[in-house]
Amino acid sequence: MTSETRNFEPISPDASPRFAEIATFMRLPRVSDPAEVDIALIGVPWDGGTTNRAGARHGPREIRNSSSLIRKVNPATRVTPYELCRVADLGDVSVNPIDLMDTLGRVQAFYQKVRAAGTVPLTAGGDHLITLPIMRALGRDRPLGMVHFDAHSDTWDTYFGGFKYTHGTPFRRAVEERLLDPKRTIQIGIRGSLYDLHDLDFAIEAGMRVITIEEFYKLGLDEVIAEARRVVGDGPTYVSFDVDGLDPVYAPGTGTPEIGGFSTFEAQQIIRGLGGLNLIGGDVVEVAPPFDPTGNTALVGATLMFEILCVLAQAVAAAKAE
Ligand code: MN
Ligand code: MN
Repeated sequence: MTSETRNFEPISPDASPRFAEIATFMRLPRVSDPAEVDIALIGVPWDGGTTNRAGARHGPREIRNSSSLIRKVNPATRVTPYELCRVADLGDVSVNPIDLMDTLGRVQAFYQKVRAAGTVPLTAGGDHLITLPIMRALGRDRPLGMVHFDAHSDTWDTYFGGFKYTHGTPFRRAVEERLLDPKRTIQIGIRGSLYDLHDLDFAIEAGMRVITIEEFYKLGLDEVIAEARRVVGDGPTYVSFDVDGLDPVYAPGTGTPEIGGFSTFEAQQIIRGLGGLNLIGGDVVEVAPPFDPTGNTALVGATLMFEILCVLAQAVAAAKAE
């Protein structure tokens, strides 16, 4: 290992107990230059796209805190991401809490620097609108595929008299801006009452594979994983995990809960099933600590972030070996 490829390790629990020290994602070092890492863990503490119950701006801090519980080895896949590549905490994007359009620009500029360094971002949100400016940075020269976990399609058009940017619209905008290839997009867990029977028409007509929760349980996990792999193929693919895709018994601390969702264990197994795909980034969004008095949703968010980190690390290691 050369000095340029020095790996970062979580603080050892033998050196300092896991409840001690300043909280960073996975107890990793905090770095400021994305060129120092292969995978950057980033917070976007912003919920200005939330149309109903705000609070996801507090997500990154609580996810960092809960991530101190997470050890370094994935027990199911046997992956230790910190052995495969350089991973560290790149801090939070400097967002503007009172200006949505300014924040979209700030997030995009931050991720353009990350991408220019050749670094793969894994983000803790923030509400789901943050994925749009991330995709503006990552999907600029070729549209991305996406594995999208959510109760909602997030392909609504406008809100409140024609406003185009909310956490219910990012993937319609991403398709319109040719950042996202709808034919290489799969949405998993879709449910919840609609404004109108035609709410899902855009996603379906654009060619997205929409797996409602009814179909999810009819197909079973292995089929859902096979379908996700088939849809995204071997092109560059982003993983976006809205915690409201989970049943609210597992993740009550979120802005738009919908009953009848999948479980945390099912989510873990699907993410593990994405190993070997050409993954170029991911996020966990919509953890809203003000609605999370037990802290369990933040722990769920941190753990799913670790699961996504493990498959991203596999993808980075495979790309390096080529
Ligand atoms: Mn949602
Ligand atoms: Mn969403």
